[in-house]
Amino acid sequence: MDHPPAPAPYRGRFAPSPTGPLHFGSLVAAVGSYLRARAAGGAWLLRMDDIDTPRNVPGAADGILRDLEGLGLEWDGPVVYQSDCLEAYTAALGRLLEQGAAYPCACSRAEVRAASEAAGLAPGVYPGTCRGGTGGRPGRSVRLRTDGARIAFTDGLLGRQKQDLEAAVGDFVIRRADGLFAYQLAVVVDDAAAGITEVVRGSDLLDSTPRQIHLYRRLGLPEPTWFHLPIAVTPAGEKLSKQTGAEAIGGEAAPEALWRALAFLGQAPPAALRGAPGPELLAWAEAHWDPGSIPARAALPDPSRADPSRAAAPEEVGRE
Ligand SMILES: [Zn+2]
Repeated sequence: MDHPPAPAPYRGRFAPSPTGPLHFGSLVAAVGSYLRARAAGGAWLLRMDDIDTPRNVPGAADGILRDLEGLGLEWDGPVVYQSDCLEAYTAALGRLLEQGAAYPCACSRAEVRAASEAAGLAPGVYPGTCRGGTGGRPGRSVRLRTDGARIAFTDGLLGRQKQDLEAAVGDFVIRRADGLFAYQLAVVVDDAAAGITEVVRGSDLLDSTPRQIHLYRRLGLPEPTWFHLPIAVTPAGEKLSKQTGAEAIGGEAAPEALWRALAFLGQAPPAALRGAPGPELLAWAEAHWDPGSIPARAALPDPSRADPSRAAAPEEVGRE
């Protein structure tokens, strides 16, 4: 070839799970992925990761869309719902089974625990019991072989990462015993179908990335690059979520939360814009976006929780 291929136009996405209203932690991922995409002149897509149906909360998806819209976080194209994509997951699973990359597993949770202990592996690491067949027992789940896979990648914020997948995770579930497709499989199939070039999300998912890269390779799909943002944690170090008491940030509280999310990401929104309408704040953020100022850390305390009587000033966000 005479010319190297032109780089693919940037396509990013935000993929919340509709398990509750938008909260500070998910807003950080939303605005971080939005600004990465807009700074690259690229598209920002929206997907509802509603594959884990028992955890979905009725009305949560619409609430999240309303909150994003209210802040001026406008996405490109139609919203994709994972629950509409089951055919694509079925096809991917079929391909992996057919090529022998995946196999049915008959083990219960208790059996996996006992087997990993007996094999001297880290807790929960599957020792490959059913790789050679289930011995006539009915398959419960489907697992992807990891044989010897060592995955390395360079995160756009956190730098070089690597994992010995077989030792750290073992053959992992891609269809669950309850019949649902595993998150890992669904995300890879969806991101590939949408042509996502960079995945920007919270670093709570950093540990999932080697499994997803392994899936891209087994499925022969082009891999995106990765950019894991710091996640907001409570003073005790727990991820901010509905379970740890994260407040919903919809309605009138949303612009204030957006200001704090920008400060959390190391941007320095002017105090004068505090409480300004979302679109105005976003316009400032797009004009002043500096990814080099994002703290290169996996987790940071949510400053507003450390001292709820006042909100975060940028200098209160720690940097290494
Ligand atoms: Zn098994």
